[in-house]
Amino acid sequence: MTIRLAILPLLLALNFSMCQKHPSPTTSSEPVSSPPASAGETAGGSPGPGVAGAAPSPKIAKAVVDQTAQTLIFCYHRLVDKIRYPGTEITPADFEAQMKQLKDAGITVISMQDLLAWRRGEKNIPPRCAVISFDDGWKSQYEVGWPIMKKFGYPFTMFIYTEGVRGGSLGGGEAITWEQLADMRDNGVDIEAHTATHQDLREGHNIMLAAAGGKRTRTKLTGPAYEQWVHNEVVGSKELLEQRLGIKVNCFAVPFGNYNEHVKELARNAGYEAMFTVYGQPITFTSPLDSLGRYAIEANKPKVFVDAVKMIGTSSGGAAAVAEVGAADLSTQPADGSTVRTALPLIKANLGRVGGIEPGSVQMRVSGLGAVPVSYDPKTGTVSYQVTQKLRGNSCTVIVSAKSEGKKVEAHWTFGIDAAAAAAPVSAAARATPTPKK
Ligand SMILES: [Zn+2]
Repeated sequence: MTIRLAILPLLLALNFSMCQKHPSPTTSSEPVSSPPASAGETAGGSPGPGVAGAAPSPKIAKAVVDQTAQTLIFCYHRLVDKIRYPGTEITPADFEAQMKQLKDAGITVISMQDLLAWRRGEKNIPPRCAVISFDDGWKSQYEVGWPIMKKFGYPFTMFIYTEGVRGGSLGGGEAITWEQLADMRDNGVDIEAHTATHQDLREGHNIMLAAAGGKRTRTKLTGPAYEQWVHNEVVGSKELLEQRLGIKVNCFAVPFGNYNEHVKELARNAGYEAMFTVYGQPITFTSPLDSLGRYAIEANKPKVFVDAVKMIGTSSGGAAAVAEVGAADLSTQPADGSTVRTALPLIKANLGRVGGIEPGSVQMRVSGLGAVPVSYDPKTGTVSYQVTQKLRGNSCTVIVSAKSEGKKVEAHWTFGIDAAAAAAPVSAAARATPTPKK
């Protein structure tokens, strides 16, 4: 075994039929943390104006993005006229019909990179979006799927496991070729990683390894042998894609969704920004980037698609659209997540970055107090309120809303109140009393 270690990566093979069967796409996890978080604990000062609870506000140079947007990520495998493996195949006609349904439902298909840029707070996306991905690298994705996507003008992502490209140890006649991938790359298709051999990435789990003579053997790797193997799966596959295609890979789809914290850490360290699982769910501004769920759409599960579209259709519909603005973008005081040592803080936010604020529309609500009489300075965009009635409890949530060019914008944030310092005159019983009901 030891002798074999050095050439392990070359020997790795994957049971192809297993891949054909896998019930859902891949998963991934992500390394990048979300942008909305603001400062941590900060002790506030006295209740005096301008001092109370003043917490350092993060400097922001980003666009203010709509944090209420949602995105569905779909994953497809082979496109074939005659379904033989309903778990990983769909007919071109069904696929095209689904692409049209997205359009008809008012769901905008965006690129994976736009989704990530939105998560970084760099770019806005429409309120209801979808990202389309193709897994495993089948030639039907190039020959059949791509032309359909072109017809709609939709961007998409290819998740490739490198040994499954034509010529690799797992790349047979139905596999996509490196030349086809290069053609897609040249035409703006996003190409991302899906390991080397498409297997369970957790230590000690059954995998197939290619042995001498092209035979495959089932085995379980642990310790250094496992580490070497998983490194090639997570990091080696990324490097190979980047080198062969001259691209930057920042997304990792985990085969079968089988990973754990160790694998996530490897992926994070390798520079992956997002990791994807197979547990489909609408992606929001706060979805953890190391486990973004994708919906695997197969011939035997048409309802998955219908339900996903319904999910995003209802969850963001309804009342008039409100654009959620990150508290960090408003340089709030006290800062989101900070703690003050007074029950009478000065509460401030700067709406200057939002732009187009209608002065009469600015409102502030404070938990435990309700709507409060704010002062708003149109010149600086500062909205402020000096609390005059002691805040109760250990935390306080503030909601600032306003109209910006006819659209309602809203920001929420929460700060802590150091009970010992702030609540001395308030009895424990009073503190435990919930907000008075109206
Ligand atoms: Zn796959």
